[in-house]
Amino acid sequence: MNNEIALQVEQLSFAYGKKQALKMVNVDVPTGTCCMLLGPNGAGKSTLFALITRLYDTREGAIKLCGYDVKRNHLQALSQLGVVFQQPTLDMDLTVMQNLRYHAALHGIGRMQASQRIQEELERLDMYERRKEQVRKLNGGHKRRVEIARALLHEPRLLLLDEPTVGLDMPSRKAIVEHVHAMAEEKQLAVLWATHLIDEVYDNDHLVVIHRGQVRAAGCVTEVLQTTAAESVQVAYDTLTKEVRG
Ligand code: ADP
Ligand code: MG
Repeated sequence: MNNEIALQVEQLSFAYGKKQALKMVNVDVPTGTCCMLLGPNGAGKSTLFALITRLYDTREGAIKLCGYDVKRNHLQALSQLGVVFQQPTLDMDLTVMQNLRYHAALHGIGRMQASQRIQEELERLDMYERRKEQVRKLNGGHKRRVEIARALLHEPRLLLLDEPTVGLDMPSRKAIVEHVHAMAEEKQLAVLWATHLIDEVYDNDHLVVIHRGQVRAAGCVTEVLQTTAAESVQVAYDTLTKEVRG
């Protein structure tokens, strides 16, 4: 099971009208790995997520989730997927528990099982004690943790996180980065994490560096450092995303 590819993106291209946002993108995320999708603003990270979640239709190329094509077998494919979007999407007036119960019901999870799953995920993220608090009163880091717990309720095989730590203070960021990395290994979950914050990369992560809609480098950290002859991920990233003048 270790080598199972949870997400397979092949030769994916996409344009907003005449604006080409992705060009022949290939991405593989094996089970149990954190794949960091690194790219500056406008690189195409959220567009890739929008195609994986089928917000937009894939016309050129293919996307498979645990072997299911998102176009031909979209129900099976999307049931393998948990998503934390770039913009927070919790109901601020409800409690943590109410937000999660609502989501579990949407996924057809029965009440007893929902209680158990909610407790499990909130405990993992150190949020169970806050389950009765209104979401509006939580700090940004805690809100994000609730969204991560929610994305995991139906036990997906692949978790997509679109810049989940932007705007958070350092301790909150660090806690989320650590939680998600530990979870990927423990639950054999595949994670695709979009970010432009290089310090979120761990040594055994996979990297996909994207710039102007194209993959500039991909592989494990050591492979990317080798191909760019760089001594750190920051240097590799800077080199790969440098604007070409002319
Ligand atoms: P990232 O998430 O890496 O910041 P995006 O995927 O949001 O990048 O954007 C990729 C490119 O597509 C950018 O040039 C952006 O301006 C453009 N873009 C994104 N969304 C739209 C849209 N709805 N309509 C037109 N262009 C868009
Ligand atoms: Mg984005």
